[in-house]
Amino acid sequence: MKFSKRIEQVNPSMTLAIDAKAKELKAKGEDVIGFGAGEPDFDTPERIKRAGIRAIEANDTHYTPVGGTNELKDAIITKMKRDNGLVYERNEIIASCGAKHSFYNLAQALWDEGDEVIIPAPYWVSFPEMVVLAGAKPVIIETYSTNNFKITVDQIKESLTTNTRAILINTPSNPTGFAYEKSELEAITEFALQNNLLLISDEIYEWIIFDGFQHSSIASLGKEAKKNCVVINGVSKCYAMTGWRIGYIAADAEIVKKITKLQGQSTSGPCSISQAASIEALMGPHDDVIAMVREFEKRRNTMVDLLTDIPGVSCNKPNGSFYSFPDFSALYGKKDKNGNAIHGSLDFTEYLLTEKKVAIVPGIAFGSDANARMSFATSMEKIEEGVKRIKEAVKLLQ
Ligand SMILES: *Cc1c(COP(=O)(O)O)cnc(C)c1O
Repeated sequence: MKFSKRIEQVNPSMTLAIDAKAKELKAKGEDVIGFGAGEPDFDTPERIKRAGIRAIEANDTHYTPVGGTNELKDAIITKMKRDNGLVYERNEIIASCGAKHSFYNLAQALWDEGDEVIIPAPYWVSFPEMVVLAGAKPVIIETYSTNNFKITVDQIKESLTTNTRAILINTPSNPTGFAYEKSELEAITEFALQNNLLLISDEIYEWIIFDGFQHSSIASLGKEAKKNCVVINGVSKCYAMTGWRIGYIAADAEIVKKITKLQGQSTSGPCSISQAASIEALMGPHDDVIAMVREFEKRRNTMVDLLTDIPGVSCNKPNGSFYSFPDFSALYGKKDKNGNAIHGSLDFTEYLLTEKKVAIVPGIAFGSDANARMSFATSMEKIEEGVKRIKEAVKLLQ
């Protein structure tokens, strides 16, 4: 069977591979502790589930307009005003089947062979792959823990070519957990505007921020910034709605129009029931979201404190999302009890899983081999037990 060049270029998701291995061990009855989860462990809040049930009962089960119902668009518009101080019109909003789908559509609508898209590493695994699927070239720029994994204007400058079309910013970030300060975004935006680069801002963890941090959207940094920015957001992470599959884009009307055309010939509008539930998510009282965030913050504190207590492990305290991104590279080069050397994040995570039944995601999957991603979207008990096991495993290395 011959397959397209397009599909052969795409790498399978490494995060899913680790997860599969952990599940296999679990199925064998092993006591595995998993820090691989890329989603909240909380259930979708009751008020949102009820809205979904009401939608089914009201026979809200037909095709909706391709870009989402007007009611959902209006809820997104209200949200953008309330949370980001931004004013959008309906023709500047499009809902899709998850934020992943939003970015996929965007890439398909914007880029051709030869176009370059700047992606800071560590990155969310799907970004470079979706750029490749569009035929364009991901230009990966390594960022450092000394700057909490945030890209600087100088770094962007160095990677700029005549083919550079866009810069992708994910704040707060998956996998690092760090969010950009407003001043940092202002500097990047100024540079992008001077060089005619589109800014793509993935803000899906917007509400999951700690220590009183204020989230800033690039689009809110001025009229020109807004025109030149595509905001990607969705309900998956902040409202514990990963299975409902609703994401959205707020952008210039011309971009939204092209994406709507693509969506009209591919998926059509997203699920009608999920759209109805998402209206409640965005418009209803956010006490449930705030309670989840408070819990995430406590777990972050525990996880990071326990991790930094392990000799050879360092971990900056993230200010958003539900991931920590510890650095294990000081342990690379050591050997396990069978004399096998740990060469990098793949070896290390494999060792933890085999030796202590703890599943974490190797940083190499996100373009940073020194680190690994550990989700704290799991119970405090599991965090305490899991990190204790990591400490024991590290002690066994020679
Ligand atoms: C989870 C995630 C998404 C995708 O979420 P959907 O479930 O497709 O809405 C997008 N960006 C980042 C950075 C994510 O972590």
